[in-house]
This record gives sequence, structure tokens and C-alpha cells, in this order.
Amino acid sequence: MNEYKGVVFLDRDGTINYDAGYINHIDNFIMYPYAAQAIRMLNKSGYYVIVITNQSGLGRGFFNEETLEEIHNYMVKTLKEQGAVIDGIYFCPHDPNAKIEKYKAVCNCRKPETGLVEMAFKDFNIDKSNMYFIGDKHSDILSGHKSGCKTIMVKTGYGQGDLINKSHKWEVKPDNIANTLLDAVKLIVKN
Ligand SMILES: [Mg+2]
Ligand SMILES: [Zn+2]
Repeated sequence: MNEYKGVVFLDRDGTINYDAGYINHIDNFIMYPYAAQAIRMLNKSGYYVIVITNQSGLGRGFFNEETLEEIHNYMVKTLKEQGAVIDGIYFCPHDPNAKIEKYKAVCNCRKPETGLVEMAFKDFNIDKSNMYFIGDKHSDILSGHKSGCKTIMVKTGYGQGDLINKSHKWEVKPDNIANTLLDAVKLIVKN
């Protein structure tokens, strides 16, 4: 087994699964058909696969942590059945205007901030010379860039719209653009 451990941080909604707004029920959580294949390729190439996701729907009261946990358990189990392993999941529940008091915060973990990646740095022994962040939004690219990752923007989810929207302010451009998570992973694995 490959001992080498770089890391690929993955956004969730619009990257692994169809972005269906605030996903407040497991029935709205539908993974892209290539998700397992992509993650399996990363596992085999010796990368940790860690999900980094903003879930301000918690703070806004659209769903609770039990529902989020149910969705994540389902995601992990369904992928595992296809031989694909998620090593960790970190989520930000916060929103500055949250209805739920305990989640009301200007935090350092909501992407484009880097707090979630920093939590992963504490929990995993990561080779920081080989880190990637894949996501469908500018906030993913920014969070990844600030964390020292190479960044790949996918065109699924909000990606295509963000890329063609000329008024969009790019603080940082993605290092690469790929049609899907699978194409992004192919770019990483062939390096
Ligand atoms: Mg997303
Ligand atoms: Zn947060």
C-alpha cells in the first residue's frame, strides 16, 4: 500500500453531489455518478480525501446537526460500498446572521477562510508539499489558495456560472479548471 500522503480537499455541494440549495433532507443528497470513481483514484494514489463544506443552513435553522450527520453517514457509506474512502469531513455551521444563537458568528472556518483546513492539519499527518483543493465556487479556490493548496475549479454546481460571469471579482484565479470532479482528479493523479 502506498504510504505517501498528500491531501485533496473536496468541497461537497456542486463538487461531489448535485447542489440542491440547502440540502435539508437525505433525499436531496444525490452524488454525481463519477464521485466514487474519482475518490477511489485518489485513495489509490496515496492522497487523503477530506471534505470541507460550508453548511450555514445549520445556523439559518434550515436543518439540524442530526440531519447533517445522517447525510454524511450516507455519503461515506455509499462511497465505501464502491471502494471509495473519505478520510475526514469538516463543516462550518456558522453564519453572521444566524437564527440559531450558538451558530451566530463571524468565524474563521467559513470558506473562503481557512479554519476547516487548519483543523485537518491538526488531525492528519499531511505532506504539505502536495495539497489540492477542488471546488465549484470562488470561495473554495480562495480558501485552498490561502491554505497552500493547488486549486482546481470544477464546472459543475456553481462553477460554470462563476467562470463565465464577467462581473465576478477574482481575488485569486484557480490553478486549473476541469469539467467535473473526475476530470480534476485525473489532472492530479497523472502528475
Ligand atoms: Mg460547492
Ligand atoms: Zn465557521
